[in-house]
Amino acid sequence: MNLDETPEEAGFRTTVRSWLADNITPNLPTEPSFADRLAADRKLGAAGYIGYTWPAEFGGGGAGPVYASILDEECARVGIPRSLAPSRFGADLLAPALIAHGSLEQLAEFLPRTRRADIVWCQGFSEPEAGSDLANVQSRLDDAGDHFRLSGAKIWTTQAHEAQWCFALVRSSRDAPRHHNLAFVLFDMQQPGVTIRPLRRLTGDAEFNELFFDQVRVERRHVVGGLHDGWKVAMTTMGAERSYGQLSRYRAYAEQLTAIAAMVRQYRGERRRVWEVELGMLAADLTGIRDSSYKITSLAAAGESVGVLPSVTKLWWSTTHQRLMDLGHEVAVETGGDLDFWLTEWLRSRAESIYAGTSQVQRNIIGERMLGLPR
Ligand SMILES: Cc1cc2nc3c(=O)[nH]c(=O)nc-3n(C[C@H](O)[C@H](O)[C@H](O)COP(=O)(O)OP(=O)(O)OC[C@H]3O[C@@H](n4cnc5c(N)ncnc54)[C@H](O)[C@@H]3O)c2cc1C
Repeated sequence: MNLDETPEEAGFRTTVRSWLADNITPNLPTEPSFADRLAADRKLGAAGYIGYTWPAEFGGGGAGPVYASILDEECARVGIPRSLAPSRFGADLLAPALIAHGSLEQLAEFLPRTRRADIVWCQGFSEPEAGSDLANVQSRLDDAGDHFRLSGAKIWTTQAHEAQWCFALVRSSRDAPRHHNLAFVLFDMQQPGVTIRPLRRLTGDAEFNELFFDQVRVERRHVVGGLHDGWKVAMTTMGAERSYGQLSRYRAYAEQLTAIAAMVRQYRGERRRVWEVELGMLAADLTGIRDSSYKITSLAAAGESVGVLPSVTKLWWSTTHQRLMDLGHEVAVETGGDLDFWLTEWLRSRAESIYAGTSQVQRNIIGERMLGLPR
């Protein structure tokens, strides 16, 4: 695999880096809030850097996946990784599914506003009895003539309290067989019948929510991919969720590794040797995560299937980051580092082996589809 950038790719990186330095860095606080990140998204959107890889006929930049990786890495370098961008649910999860399964009317209605980050989206998939077993969703879509009515509940819905629109997987039929009884729908969050209840996390923030739907209106034209065919649309968003923003994670974690190494360097006690060995192993894992992200990018750029590699990388980055935060927290305690920062990051890293598919689910996928193990 040749990891060198072409002159065009290198030129794009330089252009993006200087655009970010001029337009984003000067106004970005060290710890950006949701509003700061949304303001950054809107500037990126206005400059055409969101949806840069979408086909040009849908208002995108028409560029290949390597350009998305460069954007991802450069955004992370200045503190606005895609994995925390308010636009990610719309631009990185929903848009690939709309482009693959949506009608031209849906693309025309939603892609331009999503690209400009004028719509903030949330993802209404999980329910109390449907997380890993997503096909078990019970929220119900009822036919009401010229529209549908949605009733039920969702849980763990990130940024729902900030969102104008939601994409959701819901039950479209009580009788049809499993996987053929689901609809993928889009609906306006700011309408009667939608109740949002925040869930506070151990970190103290309330980034995700419970949602309750009481006869919420869903337009017929906002069912994506066929009334009972929502499963395939949801699978496209899940695939996209495991593939986007991988290099920005690598970049952020590599910086945390450097910060831990700096604390270790100041320390003269007996734990130093153990920490150095662990730092070495973590550095090797991070290099593997970076290379596997490059592999996914180059397969996608060549138009080849990425197979289950996104699951391998997801499992790898989430478990590695948890080990990294175990070490960061331990070293900070021993050396008088910034405990607020390391404890918060340690807590946040616990969620990484749950969202976007738990580690056990990724292991099942790898075991069954890559290694050919029996179910
Ligand atoms: C920070 C965060 C943000 C999130 N944001 C969103 C969001 O915006 N929108 C949204 O829809 N959801 C969101 N989620 C929810 C997330 O998708 C689910 O938590 C996840 O799918 C797991 O589902 P569950 O919590 O119901 O656990 P369960 O599916 O009940 O799993 C419980 C345990 O059983 C294991 N398990 C389950 N099935 C199997 C199996 N077949 N084989 C082996 N082990 C198994 C799991 O790995 C886990 O350890 C978020 C979660 C977190 C933590």
